[in-house]
Amino acid sequence: MAKYKLEYIWLDGYEPVANLRGKTQVKDFDAFPTLEQLPLWGFDGSSTRQAEGKSSDCILKPVAVYPDPAADKKALVLCEVLLPDGTPHPSNGRAGILDDPGAWFGFEQEYFLYQDGKPLGFPDQGFPYPQGEYYTGVGFKNVGSIAREIVDTHLEYCLAAGINHEGINAEVAKGQWEFQIFGKGSKKAADEVWIARYLLIRLCEKYEVDVNFHCKPLGVDVDWNGSGMHSNFSTEYLRTVGGKEYFEALMAAFDKYKNEHIAVYGPDNHLRLTGLHETQSIDKFNYGIANRGASVRVPHSFVNNGYKGYLEDRRPNSQGDPYKIASRILQTIATVPTK
Ligand code: ADP
Ligand code: MN
Ligand code: MN
Ligand code: MN
Repeated sequence: MAKYKLEYIWLDGYEPVANLRGKTQVKDFDAFPTLEQLPLWGFDGSSTRQAEGKSSDCILKPVAVYPDPAADKKALVLCEVLLPDGTPHPSNGRAGILDDPGAWFGFEQEYFLYQDGKPLGFPDQGFPYPQGEYYTGVGFKNVGSIAREIVDTHLEYCLAAGINHEGINAEVAKGQWEFQIFGKGSKKAADEVWIARYLLIRLCEKYEVDVNFHCKPLGVDVDWNGSGMHSNFSTEYLRTVGGKEYFEALMAAFDKYKNEHIAVYGPDNHLRLTGLHETQSIDKFNYGIANRGASVRVPHSFVNNGYKGYLEDRRPNSQGDPYKIASRILQTIATVPTK
């Protein structure tokens, strides 16, 4: 037997954006614990906007477990929050979402690194030189001296935890970055986005840096990009059958439910989806081949393969909840008949 540290991680009850919370318990195991071996646990919901003080206990139910890449004999235990009667807590956005192992999701998580109330690398007063060279940029003037270490360590951590991190790029604004997570099944992909967010936020503590996931942290009055979470998706049908007729019916359904999609695509998205900065306006739906100003971008490969493959919904923002985003996409797909 050895002592394992179990970091139970969950989403709190803050709105419109939940915070990640975590606390550690130590248990004896013969080997790294499996999900089935991990016990339920509890916490004080009155301190996380998940309960009243009089009856404050909430239940933590482990739903996924990953080795902690930063510590020996430590597990990251992703949990759903349950009410004392064992039913999902109202803040639990994971229980009951649509899932389908044949549905694949690739999330492009954009974010800003922040220090002293401004993007990392911004001067004390005013702005750095305008956007242009920062995207995929190299060199101190573009990325500063610590961001590279943060994003590269984050990538190593994700891989060591078994998370399907697929890549990194410096983004259009100074201090802005992106990582991509790909997963098969909406819960698996979304769980990994949340754990990747957790690892990044925690890693940044020692650099005295915070991660700002707001979709337009610098506001609309200045010419600085916002942050999205482009959601790439495919179903087995889209990958293997597809076809122009099905694709057009699918896009008509996306148009019909555009407001329902925007409702779960992250708060303050009207500040970001303005029609500028590689976005479509929030109240319009369109699609376009290789069009980065469209709501849904259709990759060239999709058309070249006979309308088969994956599509990119560019509207979800960086603060969106990947459980809700993936589930809404599947809900709309389910309205379109397949042959
Ligand atoms: P870009 O920045 O050009 O929009 P990225 O390379 O950042 O593109 O992201 C593309 C995303 O598409 C990746 O997350 C990748 O995993 C995802 N993706 C690729 N193929 C599929 C597929 N068949 N189904 C779902 N997602 C996919
Ligand atoms: Mn990208
Ligand atoms: Mn990007
Ligand atoms: Mn993209």
